[in-house]
Amino acid sequence: MKAAAPVCPSCNEAARETAIERYGRYELFGCTECGLHFWEPREMPDARWYEQMYGGRDEKLLPLEPGHKYFLADPLAPGQGELLDIGCGTGNFLAAARDAGYEVTGTELDRNAARFARERVGLPRVFPLTISEFVERHPDKKFGVVTFFEVLEHQAAPVEFLHKVKSCLRSRGVIAISVPNRERWLTGPDVLDYPPNHFLRWNTHALTNLLSTHGFEILSIREQEAGFAHTAQMINLSLRTGLSRSRTGEAPASFRDVMQMELDQAEAVLHAAPTVRQRAMQMLRRIRYTVCYPAALAVHPYVWMRGYKGTYLYCLARLRD
Ligand SMILES: [Zn+2]
Repeated sequence: MKAAAPVCPSCNEAARETAIERYGRYELFGCTECGLHFWEPREMPDARWYEQMYGGRDEKLLPLEPGHKYFLADPLAPGQGELLDIGCGTGNFLAAARDAGYEVTGTELDRNAARFARERVGLPRVFPLTISEFVERHPDKKFGVVTFFEVLEHQAAPVEFLHKVKSCLRSRGVIAISVPNRERWLTGPDVLDYPPNHFLRWNTHALTNLLSTHGFEILSIREQEAGFAHTAQMINLSLRTGLSRSRTGEAPASFRDVMQMELDQAEAVLHAAPTVRQRAMQMLRRIRYTVCYPAALAVHPYVWMRGYKGTYLYCLARLRD
């Protein structure tokens, strides 16, 4: 018997029955109504998984991402008031928002990152909780702004997630979001953009549809352009894809493969000391990356002229009355 077409987790309409892509035990489907691409099956990993996979990012303050900068520079953002950042990492955005005049609170699944934010960045109100746990423990706490940068693509159930967000938003409160733009210029697979890390692939239409359907008015929407660094990365990626095709089986496990593994096995791979050969490959990769820059200089005017898109899709929206 043929299985029924999967149902879109954002708008509940049936998707096309044919998978767009398969990876490991997962299949990617496209919604015919809102255009969201989503993987099946979807089950979000636990906190330990994120600590394992994103370890190394939980003990430093990373530079601000484009989504953070778009919000801080957005003339339609309130510029003050109580702000909750979901998935705040080590607190780079929260520290900048605090300096810009917001009273900041954050939640972060990775307990090491949450501790770093509290103890080293001086952000006392960062809690190692999921948004559901935060809402349960602080049922009366309401914020004028709720932000979640690079979080929505990880969700198994985006509508439930958005309901949690709304439950801690004041009336006419605003949300600010960034997600990877599915329509970005890619020359090969983006290894981070696979399950169980990411389950949802958004574009402008799918994102604004979700927000409008659930009571939000769109204030700003911005698609990053493919800049010089993105161009260099894409030249590098096309070279890498070519190289691993010509040496099938020899390339070291990519992050995309590691995150498919059982946690113990992934831990062993991530913590294994690199072999001499792997170190030589790392050095080659670095050299290749340097070589990409002059190439990017030559190609970028063409990329810019064609209007190729970069990674970030940013949106600011207000809860309607
Ligand atoms: Zn849909």
